[in-house]
Amino acid sequence: MMVLSPGFTASVLDRVETERLDPDIVPRLVASGDALFIDLPDYLPATDAAGLAWTALDGATPVNELVLLGRIAGKARFTRLPADIQGARRSPAIMSLIESLSATDAATYGVARGLLDWHARHKFCAYCGHPSEMMRAGWARHCPSCQTEHYPRTDPVVIMLAEHGSGDAARVLVGRQPMFPPGRYSALAGFLEVGESIEGAVARELFEEAGVRATRIRYVASQPWPFPSQLMIACIARVEDDTITLDRNELEDARWVDRAGIAAALAGEESAPFLTPPSYAIAHTLLTAWAEGA
Ligand SMILES: [Zn+2]
Repeated sequence: MMVLSPGFTASVLDRVETERLDPDIVPRLVASGDALFIDLPDYLPATDAAGLAWTALDGATPVNELVLLGRIAGKARFTRLPADIQGARRSPAIMSLIESLSATDAATYGVARGLLDWHARHKFCAYCGHPSEMMRAGWARHCPSCQTEHYPRTDPVVIMLAEHGSGDAARVLVGRQPMFPPGRYSALAGFLEVGESIEGAVARELFEEAGVRATRIRYVASQPWPFPSQLMIACIARVEDDTITLDRNELEDARWVDRAGIAAALAGEESAPFLTPPSYAIAHTLLTAWAEGA
């Protein structure tokens, strides 16, 4: 079986879930003197030649602002949640940072960014509206008024290639949203709705956006996508009829591309039929997997 490594999946972080249950874990690790720290002002961490620039955790940061990411190479790793933190945005600086990081550092950054952004957007209890407080070393929040506990959420998104034909006649469907950079096409995608299965969402999105009917769906890989909190679930869906009916609200264009065309696009050839998404996007992994026979 092919080994797939989508972006943001290569973290070497030990999440130490059991350690987080200890209410004194943060002060104890701070006192131990060998914890490491990285600050993310505006979600942009410092980097050096080795990647993420971890520094020794000194006593300067208030303990109640520290978030325990986990351990790497045995050492506790912290980031900081400033009291005035704002929700994260994607910026050219952040996307170019991600391109420059190693796969393992990008995944660790994704965890840190996702956690901080969740706290920034969930300062109040969703049940009673009272300000909530960080708990579990930064992996949950607690409402001191109604005692409800809140946990970071992950929003599932299906992303899929429709596949028509077989052998040399096999082709997959790629589409283009108006906001994409010029020339780019990608797999179609959409959020799972309440009460829906992965297969149901794949079939619904393909029909809504491109008018094609899935007859068989296979899972390929998944990826946490920290912009802000998606889980991308990549699938390939067989279709028997290749007639496209575009939903112009979602897509500007969609086209069938054969294996040679996908391979040319992945290789960045000038004659390629389209430009692929960046390599850290799971659409890139999905196109690569299909080109190699998944
Ligand atoms: Zn509450």
